[in-house]
Amino acid sequence: MITVSTIKELREYTKQWRREGLSIGLVPTMGYLHEGHRSLIDKAVKENDKVVVSIFVNPTQFGPNEDLSTYPRDIDRDKELCEKAGAAIVFNPEASEMYFNNANTYADVEKLTDGLCGLKRPGHFRGVCTIVSKLFNIVNPDRAYFGEKDAQQLAVIRRMVRDLNFDIEIIGCPIIREEDGLAKSSRNKYLSLEERAAATILNKSLMKSKEFLENGEISAEVIKSKIKAEIDSELLAKIDYIEIVDKYTLEPVRDIKSSILIAIAVFIGNTRLIDNFTFELEEK
Ligand code: AMP
Repeated sequence: MITVSTIKELREYTKQWRREGLSIGLVPTMGYLHEGHRSLIDKAVKENDKVVVSIFVNPTQFGPNEDLSTYPRDIDRDKELCEKAGAAIVFNPEASEMYFNNANTYADVEKLTDGLCGLKRPGHFRGVCTIVSKLFNIVNPDRAYFGEKDAQQLAVIRRMVRDLNFDIEIIGCPIIREEDGLAKSSRNKYLSLEERAAATILNKSLMKSKEFLENGEISAEVIKSKIKAEIDSELLAKIDYIEIVDKYTLEPVRDIKSSILIAIAVFIGNTRLIDNFTFELEEK
């Protein structure tokens, strides 16, 4: 496995692979890799001849009061994980390599970014879509892999790829969790022991809502209130949002009649965590 830090060098490799008729998978990440990322890389390695893992803490997707400067990093451990998983290249550029000082061009997906994290983190998805578009143009992959953990991101990228005719297959991968149900996240590192225990409330509250749905509850308001009550019972937790939306359009639903996404963002102490689950209504 090789590590490259410049766009020029990366392109030399990917162009050569194309000439040889090899398929390319891309796994975009911000590093501090865990089994969630690993599952994306594993799938990419299975489905492609060559896999590029990008590791780049993308400044443009962080708000002014967010954790860009403290975001956890461990490039040596990340490279080891990528090598073990069978990636061909780790692309680890500096911000100055990825952005021109006087850049004026962005990729922005409307509507789907109006709610959920898009509402709470203004500019976040513009940063995500811009960097992902740039990576797509640099790597020119056949397939790109994204986690369902970031459900809105996945929906937004699918829409961008459709709308802008990127010839890339977007593969969604299931959420990988700790044994107690907490979704794996690089940001879990911020949690103290006490907060780590409290953080299980995210998945617990979603599983509670699943029970109500399975018992036939169809009111989104009722389901949201159940989730709220569960999260409020945890003293260290502060709700950022609880939303029930259509899985594809991300528009809020009143009654649960179709495939829905229940998405939550919760502060545990100062750490903002997200989780979600999708519920497919069985045809009766
Ligand atoms: P990040 O490094 O947090 O930007 O994540 C890079 C990619 O890994 C994104 O597509 C995430 O959705 C995905 N990912 C992060 N955590 C998980 C997880 N626990 N399970 C599955 N995918 C994940």
